[in-house]
This record gives sequence, structure tokens and C-alpha cells, in this order.
Amino acid sequence: MSNVAAKIGLVTTIPVEVLFAAGLVPVDLNNIFITAPDPAKLVEQAELEGFPRNTCSWVKGIYTAALRHNIGTVIAVMRGDCSNNEAMAEVLRSKGVEIVPFSFPYPRDRRFLVAEIERLMDRFGTNWDEVEATKRQLDEVRALALRLDELTWQTGNVTGFENHIWSVSCSDFNGDPALFQQQLGDLLRQKESISRDDQDGQASIRLGFVGVPPIVTDLYEHVEGLGARVVFNEIQRQFAMPGPAERDVAQMYLDYTYPYDFEGRLADIEAEVSRRRVDALIHYVQSFCHHQIQDIILRQRIKVPILTLEGDRPGPLDARSRMRLEAFVEMCRQRAVARSLK
Ligand code: SF4
Repeated sequence: MSNVAAKIGLVTTIPVEVLFAAGLVPVDLNNIFITAPDPAKLVEQAELEGFPRNTCSWVKGIYTAALRHNIGTVIAVMRGDCSNNEAMAEVLRSKGVEIVPFSFPYPRDRRFLVAEIERLMDRFGTNWDEVEATKRQLDEVRALALRLDELTWQTGNVTGFENHIWSVSCSDFNGDPALFQQQLGDLLRQKESISRDDQDGQASIRLGFVGVPPIVTDLYEHVEGLGARVVFNEIQRQFAMPGPAERDVAQMYLDYTYPYDFEGRLADIEAEVSRRRVDALIHYVQSFCHHQIQDIILRQRIKVPILTLEGDRPGPLDARSRMRLEAFVEMCRQRAVARSLK
């Protein structure tokens, strides 16, 4: 193997065990884009280079983030993430970035997924024994993220935003699983020491957040400022790989709902809405994203009120979205009062 970069860019969650087993550092480009001091500038930079206005801002942001951070190799998910990845990856390749393709199978097929993971292993110089051993180490870190998720809906000691940020960070563990484990362990100890008095959230409106992670920066702050609580972050939770720890790597990534058909996501959403006593859902959709179309099926299947909220560029919520959220939370509150009077 020659010329392997120490940092490997990711456009979404992939079997990251392969990279850690090979001694490499995964960098989720979404995270370094959205936490940059000037994420809107990264989008503008891509537009100056010719990316169309009517292309998703996440795509433009991760493109510029890869170049700004001199990422030499990017794993581009060609099936199971974003319909724009192929073209974006071709532009990155034209700039000298090595593109390693990876595809999640459609439909879910273990043999195909195993073959794709083995292609990654061949490229980065590792094997199943090392990859499975790495998974067992990461299982301990993921267990902490899943414990934080439990505290979010069971006690209310963890905010929806804290849940969001730690869960999305499980795509790359901020490049350092040991440090991530230590920091998350410290946070959990602090959260678990808080009294549960008045913390179970019975009096609050319990919201679920469905859809891709939001590009708007103050959504959780605004919702929780209205007296509602986000007790379910659908896709973010998937990044922490909920499910039995004893699965092998391939099975864990087959159980991961995001890259496959929407039916799997719906089954997960239905189960969690019921288990977490979710009153209503916010379906976040990104401008120019194909996932917007799935709103049709979500509304057919899920039997709680749904607010579909669209975001475009990084920055705070616009005035119209804030007003729609306020009206939605108020409607939920009135429904709760009416239920309590029955
Ligand atoms: S929000 Fe949709 S269009 Fe944008 S990067 Fe994600 S999957 Fe692609």
C-alpha cells in the first residue's frame, strides 16, 4: 500500500472500524464543515467554484471542508447516502483528492456489504480479525453514547442538543475514540448525578426529530426555549449503532437504518415514538435533498402530528420557521391539555 493519508475524509457514516484498525484517523467532513467558524463561507466558496445554487449546502460545505483541511483521501459513499456524492467526488478527484468508493447495498444484502467492507480492508491494509477487535473496543464507546440517549428520554437530564452532538460525533469519534470515551464518560457521570426530581419531562411537550441532521444552528435551542423537549434524534441515534453489542461488524452495519430503504427507518421511528412517548415529530428536510420526498410516506405511516421544516444554508432559523415552530408547539400543548381533560 502506498501513499495512505493519515486522515481519511468521510461524507457519512461508514464502517469506521476499518480505518481505526488500519491506524488511520477518520474525519467526518460534515462535522468539520458545520463546526467551522464560518460554515456559510464554505458553501459560498463551493458556489464560487461553480457548484449550483440549487445543490444541497451540506454537499458544498463538505467539499470545501475537504480542500481546506488538505484531506488527501475521501471515502465517498456512492449508494446509501446522497445522490450528489458521485459528482461531488469527481470534482474532488479533479483537485487531486484520492476517492475511495464505498456502497451500502440496496436491498440489504450481507454478501454485498461484506464484499464492500473487504474492498475497504484491502485498500487500507487490515483484516477481519483486526476490524472485529476494533469493533469490540468501539462497542464500549457506543454504549456510553446509547446510555446518554437513554438519559435524554428517560430522565430529561440530557438536552436534545447534547444528545444530537454526541450522537452525530459517533461517525468518527472525533478521530480519537479513547479521548471521546473519556469525555463522554465524564459527562455521563455528571448527568447521572443530577436528581430525577421533576426531570422526567411529563409536563413538557416531547418531540422527536426525524431526518438528516439540521444545517440550521439554533433549532434545538429554539425548540427547547419554547418549553418542548427533543427526546428522540432519529438518524443521529443510528450513528451510535443501537442494537446488541454481540453482532459482528457486517450485521451491525446491516441493522443501521439510514442507508437502506425507508421502510427500515419507519419501523425504527414507529417503535421509538411509542417507547419514548413522543407527542409530535419535527421532520427536518434539507433544501434540494432527495430525502424530502420521503415526507409523503412518513405522514402516511406515523400517527402523531408532524411539522416538516426545511433548512437551506448554515445559520440561525429564519423568522418563518421560528413562527411555524412556535405555532406547532402551541398546538401540541393544546392537544395535551385536551387529552388531560378527557
Ligand atoms: S442533506 Fe440530502 S442532499 Fe444534502 S448531503 Fe445529505 S443526503 Fe445529500
